[in-house]
Amino acid sequence: MISVKSESELEKMRVAGEIAGNALHFGGQSIKPGMSTYELDKIIHDYIVKHGATPSFLGYGGFPASACISLNNKVIHGIPSKKEIIKEGDIVSIDVGAFIGGFHGDTAYTFAVGRISDEASELLRVTEESLYKGIEQAVAGHRIGDISHAVEEHCTAHGYGVVRDYVGHGVGVKLHEAPEVPNFGKAGHGPRLVNGMTIAIEPMINGKGAEVKVLPDGWTVLTRSGSLSAHFEHTVAITPNGPVLLTRPTL
Ligand code: MG
Repeated sequence: MISVKSESELEKMRVAGEIAGNALHFGGQSIKPGMSTYELDKIIHDYIVKHGATPSFLGYGGFPASACISLNNKVIHGIPSKKEIIKEGDIVSIDVGAFIGGFHGDTAYTFAVGRISDEASELLRVTEESLYKGIEQAVAGHRIGDISHAVEEHCTAHGYGVVRDYVGHGVGVKLHEAPEVPNFGKAGHGPRLVNGMTIAIEPMINGKGAEVKVLPDGWTVLTRSGSLSAHFEHTVAITPNGPVLLTRPTL
């Protein structure tokens, strides 16, 4: 069932979303070549806890860290590690959730470390653009498929692979709620959007090919082709004033 949030519930989601957005931004600004993904996770963890929230991902389905950190050809769900060192030229996808007041905020961004290749920079630009093309469609009366189609069309026009095995989702009291929000699909299809719905729109886009594989750790998702992958996500509320980004950083 799709939950519709009241004004007071949306206010709580704003609080959770702001902490998640700021933790992500703070983490991104803290990235330095030579740092391990474990250290980066610790910075994000401490930011969330210091602001009175709980990291949504820590322990979720047994996930062992507070942020998912996925470098280069990793798509999503990368497990932070002391052995994984961030280098100049890497792209670093960070996915962060914060839980406070009974609600979650969920957001992701792919950061460039120093100078990155033109190829990488184009992938980041197009994937972020596709997120905003999807957000533009998050209006009452539209359907989920309008969001899906907008994301897919923008990315396939650039020759990229749109990941199909993982999708966006409703978010609220639970981290993952109905409906699913795929990054591919037909305009005019799927559940109708109504005011008070809160959804995480999150394009996961591969430089080449849509196919992915999962490492034996059971979490880390990589591109099958070995190409780079980018991930951008906002928690968005459908409101009479149009889409509202609940996870926009305010730092
Ligand atoms: Mg999500």
